[in-house]
Amino acid sequence: IESKLPAVKTTIFSSMSQLAQQHQAINLGQGFPDFDCDPTLIESVHQAMLAGHNQYPPMPGTPVLRQAIATKVSALYHAHYDADSEITITAGATQAIMTSILACVHPGDEVIVIEPAYDSYIPTIQLAGGIPVLVGMRFEDNRFSVDWDLLASKISLKTRCILINSPHNPTGMTFSTADLARLANIVRDTKILLISDEVYEHMVFDGNQHHSVASHAELAQRSFIISSFGKTYHVTGWKVGYVLAPKSLTAEFRKVHQFNVFTVNTPMQVGIAHFMHDHRHHLQLSDFYQEKRDVFRNALANSKFKLLPCDGTYFQCVDYSAISDRSELEFATWLTTEIGVAAIPVSAFYQEQKQNKLVRFCFAKKTETLNAALKRLQQI
Ligand code: PMP
Ligand code: GLN
Repeated sequence: IESKLPAVKTTIFSSMSQLAQQHQAINLGQGFPDFDCDPTLIESVHQAMLAGHNQYPPMPGTPVLRQAIATKVSALYHAHYDADSEITITAGATQAIMTSILACVHPGDEVIVIEPAYDSYIPTIQLAGGIPVLVGMRFEDNRFSVDWDLLASKISLKTRCILINSPHNPTGMTFSTADLARLANIVRDTKILLISDEVYEHMVFDGNQHHSVASHAELAQRSFIISSFGKTYHVTGWKVGYVLAPKSLTAEFRKVHQFNVFTVNTPMQVGIAHFMHDHRHHLQLSDFYQEKRDVFRNALANSKFKLLPCDGTYFQCVDYSAISDRSELEFATWLTTEIGVAAIPVSAFYQEQKQNKLVRFCFAKKTETLNAALKRLQQI
């Protein structure tokens, strides 16, 4: 058949995990924890199944979970989202991203994407018939940041929406309130919508706060805000996430959602809701991951790898230019096959090859996994 996505291959996350397995490398590539979730959460899902929560929930998601999310968002971001009409449960963030894009992008619309960009964004825009307009992040003194002037220069009459992601995968950059203020200035007096991917909202380090678009009333009124329980509760395989959006945007989102997945598995939703009610796990997540980040960074501080800043997420990017001239993909492959530690080339987050020498490691791993990997990396 004539491919709708001729340039797309199997994602780098799958291919690197497969390579890691083949070579029995320690997998710091694909982002997922190698430890289990809180057993109380599993018990909570088990109880939900035993209590008979096994048939379709309402199309937008189980009411108790939507209410628990509304309560959390209000406490953290001082934003009011109505559980009935402004919160929808999705099959992970990936489905929320795709459904938001399908709901708002018309054929020929331009969608601004900041690069490096999570790998699902661009193919999803293309499937909707949209035109991705790429804005490269500034990369100076080994630090990534958004060049808002460059972004503003890419806006046209065809711009339908802007995709943003903070804390940012893969760079670990986080938005400040100044970033949100700049963005607000840019979109004021336009009809441009925002899709804000905030799946790492609970992983922000060094005493800083996550600045959710939800906390910025002016931006929130034009935004789909997306999060994922997979990241927050160490259950990436459960594929449960959600989207917050004002009523009119949620109505459009649900028109697509009902024919996309209709709804998401019931017992996980009920189990997560009860767990959220009784535990404040998300409030401890930043400290939990900061400790892992520091183990990783301290061990490589005197190595040939140059560490980029990591203000949030569970990813650490490093510059390897003092070690090798290889391309990022070649270097990540070499690390996996010869050193026994899998990583992701940052080039996988760009459409066009850059001259950077950067790879991304995931530090959402047990201390013993990290130590074993670090021992190998320190020998380079
Ligand atoms: N957005 C970003 C930035 C991510 O890193 C991920 C997970 N790797 C997703 C979306 C997808 O999340 P989920 O697994 O909940 O679909
Ligand atoms: N989001 C994860 C990462 O960036 C991977 C998700 C996936 O495998 N699609 O590593």
